[in-house]
Amino acid sequence: MTSLVSHHPTTSIPSVTSDVPTGLWIGGRSVPASGGKTFNVLDPATETLLARVADAAPADALSALDKAAAVADDWAATAPRVRSEILQDTFRLISERVDELAVLMTMELGRALPDSLAEARYGAEFLRWFAEEAVRIEGRITKSPSGNGRILVSHQPVGACLAITPWNFPLAMGTRKIAPALAAGNVMIVKPASETPLTMLALASAFAEAGLPPGVLSVLPTTSAQEVSSALIEDERIRKISFTGSTPVGRALIGQAAERVQRTSMELGGNAPFIVFADADLDAAVDGAVAAKMRNGGEACTAANRFLVHDSVAAEFTDELVERLRVMRSGPGYEATTTLGPLVSRIQRDNVADFVNRAVNAGGRVRLGGEVPKGIGYYYPATVVDNVPADADITREEIFGPVAVISTFDTEEQAITAANATEYGLAAYFFSRDLDRCMRVAEKLDAGMVGVNRGVISDVAAPFGGVKQSGLGREGGREGIHEYLTTKYIALGG
Ligand code: NAD
Repeated sequence: MTSLVSHHPTTSIPSVTSDVPTGLWIGGRSVPASGGKTFNVLDPATETLLARVADAAPADALSALDKAAAVADDWAATAPRVRSEILQDTFRLISERVDELAVLMTMELGRALPDSLAEARYGAEFLRWFAEEAVRIEGRITKSPSGNGRILVSHQPVGACLAITPWNFPLAMGTRKIAPALAAGNVMIVKPASETPLTMLALASAFAEAGLPPGVLSVLPTTSAQEVSSALIEDERIRKISFTGSTPVGRALIGQAAERVQRTSMELGGNAPFIVFADADLDAAVDGAVAAKMRNGGEACTAANRFLVHDSVAAEFTDELVERLRVMRSGPGYEATTTLGPLVSRIQRDNVADFVNRAVNAGGRVRLGGEVPKGIGYYYPATVVDNVPADADITREEIFGPVAVISTFDTEEQAITAANATEYGLAAYFFSRDLDRCMRVAEKLDAGMVGVNRGVISDVAAPFGGVKQSGLGREGGREGIHEYLTTKYIALGG
């Protein structure tokens, strides 16, 4: 265990009062890695050491799987009401600690505290939602059409699950998988991103406090992601892989899962278009744009990645967006005045800077920001680049930073064609006051989720997920628990 505050050199951080485990979470407790190795977690604002965390090896993964397999049947047989209550109790514990968790997430991830607080609440809601779903797993019984016997359909736990999560929502990307998996009666091993392992370890410890039996949930921070996950995927006992992260890694995991025909849920990259039609309420569109672009400092898979604005309103929309982003205050995420924290890592910051340089080479004009500030911390300013041709190569890439790229269009058809010209299909947004157009465009956009006249779409009660190379499956909503259930047909004679 470590007290994070004592590791930190500055004094302006609100105190994190509860201790956070820094070992691997196996068998319901924090243990060192079998090889004794640790890795450093850094504060992106100061580039200084936040904590040393145990670094799992493949042997640790198999030890976690042995423990999970040993309790899998008991957990599957545990009454749904009991599973539900453990999730409810964890929800209560996390809800009591949202402020502390928000600080912890900001310390690992950099982003501004209000974004972390929003995630702490959103992440906790998956625990409550799936606690409610645990007792509502229904099947059906029907007479066979021939009149010869009955068809009984039931849903059973899929088996031991592996979850691999990214750094950009360190709590919610975990609870969105763990809560439905456990509600459905599965055991789960989680491999969090090495940039942000502490949040997931704090969550595991809250589950234990809420009475989750040891072995049902394990957390394996590691710098050997491929080796650790391969050791698990190559084991027949793992029946399901749930991944949130980049499309190239998702593709590789689908390939590995194919070897043993394991089920997969894939929440992958995005390249969300944000279309502003001439008939849009421009003030609302700018509000939506700020939310869709700047939530999480742009480090969101649902972030607006390409603004497509009708020629007739482009100048006004761009000027307004520039003014709204100009007042964003960069600084350490945990300082009260900060509205834009640093990016998670040097690599991420350099990628964003490189993207902006290429946008300029493609004809873009920097209207705001666009330069890496001097000094420590992985900062990148709020940036607006307009004049970018809608078909420029860079518009196919996910930015993952506070950079708004603006192109223009003339006809509705051009906007839809440009919006769909990507291998991704996660989120899409548009603003219009014409109801016919709203329905028509929403149906034509190739995206798993469409925001109409709103810039934030995530909701625990809605199915989250993408089409095309943005992924497979849905998380949250009524659909979410079915990712962790398998359908059994029992043919009843008589
Ligand atoms: P990433 O793919 O690099 O890493 C995600 C996770 O996979 C991390 O835990 C990492 O350690 C692990 N990983 C990396 N290589 C691996 C390998 N070969 N085998 C097994 N595990 C491996 O992605 P990231 O940079 O952490 O996250 C950003 C990406 O995640 C973006 O593309 C973003 O769009 C996507 N994302 C998608 C959603 C969604 O719901 N669709 C949500 C959040 C983030």
